Amino acid sequence: METVMIKRTQTCPKCGKSHSVMVPFSEYWAWECGAPMEQALKSLTYCELKQIATKVCPDCQKEILGYQ
Ligand SMILES: [Zn+2]
Repeated sequence: METVMIKRTQTCPKCGKSHSVMVPFSEYWAWECGAPMEQALKSLTYCELKQIATKVCPDCQKEILGYQ
């Protein structure tokens, strides 16, 4: 069966840019049903989890954390 992806679009509170994260439907569903985020959204990267949790876009995350 093909994996259905959910596109979660958010607006960054820091720069106002719209950005999105693709989440497999099954994982998104588990999260909606109350599973802890890091457990439910297991195929997402740390950056993507932060993107959903804080709504901060990847560019601003890098800026805040001082990554190059
Ligand atoms: Zn931003």
